[in-house]
Amino acid sequence: MSLVDDLVALDRPLLVALDVDGTLAPIVRDPDEAMIPPQTLELLKVLASASTVEVALITGRDLESLSRMERLDGIWRGVEHGGLVLGPSEQPRERKLAEEHELALARFREWVRDHAEDAFVEYKPRAVAVHVRAIAETDPDRANRLLDEAEELATRLGLHVRKGRCVREAEALSFDKGEALRQIFERSGARSVFFAGDDVTDVPAIEFANNHGIGAFVLSAEKPKPPSESMVVIESASEVAQLLAELSHRLV
Ligand SMILES: [Mg+2]
Repeated sequence: MSLVDDLVALDRPLLVALDVDGTLAPIVRDPDEAMIPPQTLELLKVLASASTVEVALITGRDLESLSRMERLDGIWRGVEHGGLVLGPSEQPRERKLAEEHELALARFREWVRDHAEDAFVEYKPRAVAVHVRAIAETDPDRANRLLDEAEELATRLGLHVRKGRCVREAEALSFDKGEALRQIFERSGARSVFFAGDDVTDVPAIEFANNHGIGAFVLSAEKPKPPSESMVVIESASEVAQLLAELSHRLV
C-alpha cells in the first residue's frame, strides 16, 4: 500500500497537519523570500473545505510571518513552535511576557545587533531566531561560531535554546510542535492525524502523529536521512505537494 492509501484508510475526521518551511515551501537562503507554491495553497484550500478533513499549519514562524505566506480560511494554525495555537477563525489575544523574560530577550537582541548583523534574524513576540544559512555558504566556520555563541548567550540569559537546521532560536518560553498538534487534535475533534515535517524540531509532532495516525519526515539535501530509521519518509517537498494532490482527489 502507498502512503496515500494508508492515509485514506485512517478514521475521519482526519487532521492533515503540516510544517511549512521545507515541507510546503521550498527552503531558500532568505526565509523572507520563502513561499508556498500557489498550487499547494489551492490544494490546502480544497482539503480544508472537505467536511471530514481538518487542515493545520504548524510552524516556527510567528503569525505575522505565516500570514505573509498564506491567508487560507478554515484552517488551524500553530505558530512560534506551538507558543500560539489558533482555531480556524480565532484571533490572537494580547500576551504579556514577564519582565525578566523581556530583559533577557532585549540583551539577546543587543548581541545580535553587535555581533550577528549579517545573519537573517527573525524577531518574534517571544523569541529571536538567528539563521545562518546564507553565511554558511561563504564562511561555514563563522556560521558555526555564530550558532555556538547564540546558544551560549541564550543559555546564560536563562532563555530556552531551540536548535534547527542553520538556526538557533532564543525563546522566553519553551513549547513544541508535538504539544501544538495535540491541542489542535483535541480541539478539532479529529479522530486521526497525519503530520509531515522536515526538521528535528518536527520530531515531537511526528511522534504524536504516529500514536494517532501517521507521522512522516520530509527529506532534503540538507537532511537526506530521517532522525530515526523507523520513520515514514517523504522524499522531498515536491512529493508532499504530490501527496496532497492525491489526497484531495481521494478525500474531497
Ligand atoms: Mg520545516
